[in-house]
Amino acid sequence: MSKLRAAARSGRGLQQGAGEGRKSPRRCRKNVSSHKGMLPPVSAQQSAYHLFSHPAEIEAFRKNLLAWLQANQMLTEEHMQKWPTLQALAKASLEEVNELWAGLGYYSRGKRLQEAAQKVVSELAGQMPATAEELQRLLPGVGRYTAGAIASISYGQATGVVDGNVIRVLCRVRCIGADSSSPAVADRLWDLANALVDPARPGDFNQAMMELGATVCTPRAPLCMECPVKQHCKARCRVEKELEFASRRLLGKAASSCSQAPDIEECAATGSCSLCLPASEPWDSSLGVANFPRRAAKKQPRAERTATCVLERRGPRGQPEYLIVQRPSSGLLAGLWEFPSLALGPGLKEKQQREALLAHVQAWAGEAVARGRLRHVGEVSHVFSHIHQTYVVYSLLLGRDPEMASGWRDEMLERPAFRWVTQAEFQKSAVSTAMKKVWKVCERQNCEGRGSGQGCKRKRGADPSRAGQRKVEADGSLPPRQLSLDAFLKAPAGE
Ligand code: SF4
Repeated sequence: MSKLRAAARSGRGLQQGAGEGRKSPRRCRKNVSSHKGMLPPVSAQQSAYHLFSHPAEIEAFRKNLLAWLQANQMLTEEHMQKWPTLQALAKASLEEVNELWAGLGYYSRGKRLQEAAQKVVSELAGQMPATAEELQRLLPGVGRYTAGAIASISYGQATGVVDGNVIRVLCRVRCIGADSSSPAVADRLWDLANALVDPARPGDFNQAMMELGATVCTPRAPLCMECPVKQHCKARCRVEKELEFASRRLLGKAASSCSQAPDIEECAATGSCSLCLPASEPWDSSLGVANFPRRAAKKQPRAERTATCVLERRGPRGQPEYLIVQRPSSGLLAGLWEFPSLALGPGLKEKQQREALLAHVQAWAGEAVARGRLRHVGEVSHVFSHIHQTYVVYSLLLGRDPEMASGWRDEMLERPAFRWVTQAEFQKSAVSTAMKKVWKVCERQNCEGRGSGQGCKRKRGADPSRAGQRKVEADGSLPPRQLSLDAFLKAPAGE
């Protein structure tokens, strides 16, 4: 529910922040009139069994669901403290957005959100589009789901939303067992959501559907007994009839009828209906209602390997500093910061990895670095949505300030944006969770190198990349005490 509440708040907040914006949320009566609970006609391959064909049932479904929402509504309200208005978000830099978003994943969303705010301010006179169609058409990064959520919650448009939770609820209540990610089934689910949404309270209804999927109609252990729409749920009905049949057989009751299959309502077009469970994967009694939804097998994420180097120098006051460089402005983790990293081709041996990484970091080092000074720290795995990434982690302690080296500036002109940061600064930077894992593995190895856990505890503030390396003094002074790793890895407040 928090996702939609945020959307609602952002819509309202932005509206208020616009100053000359509309005074109250707008309702789209045009769309309301089209949502009387009737579904578009089904195709020959889609049986009406999977739809809501009686307006009275739709009314009852809405009433039960909204009553449940009322009884269970969470009253806690979060506040969008950092950028409470659209104008404030539009003025923020992408770097600030990335810093706040760091650790949340799906980093392109933060960027898109800010781009949308800028577009509303600069091209739409500060006025948020108020219908799902306009939101989707005019704002970058706003898809059908986000548009429906904002339009229904902030502007009262009677339009449904379909996310993973809603898919699960709809597929179960109507026994839709075809691949829910296929375009034909997705279209039908949107039709169902649009037909069910309550025109009088579309925002509440949509939040209730999502909340129901998140808390009651969960993927593996749905709480059907507590479900407010259980009397409308065909999957539950089927399970109950199966259980009843099984228990009667067990008790030896009605021996004559028990030899027959239970009278379970089924799609009349089973076998040719494109919304039914596929014949190749029929109903599995052991799964119960979790027979629904079904999805085509997900593509396995592709495996990639990247060498990354924690490069350390002494700062102006003798404190350790670490090099981070900015990723390109598009693609994976766009605009985020990371330790210098290099994608590794397949089949590279350890020696070749070292050579390639050394060549990559040489310019930042500002001095000739022997291959042996690169210390292998370990490996870190991180799964992005479509990539299984393995970071091969090395560390390198520099013997002098690389910026003092002759020709260093010239070499840097060719390089992406970079900066040297202390541990505390790294913590606040827009770095991904994967890079925080890289740091952690450095510290772990540092502890192991020192022996006992007690030793690690005592030396927790020590620099992780110094284990087993020759001590290098920049100016003879003792380095200042460092933050603990816990503090270092702790997500910034507000994340
Ligand atoms: Fe989901 Fe069970 Fe409710 Fe059906 S009865 S919608 S399966 S929780």
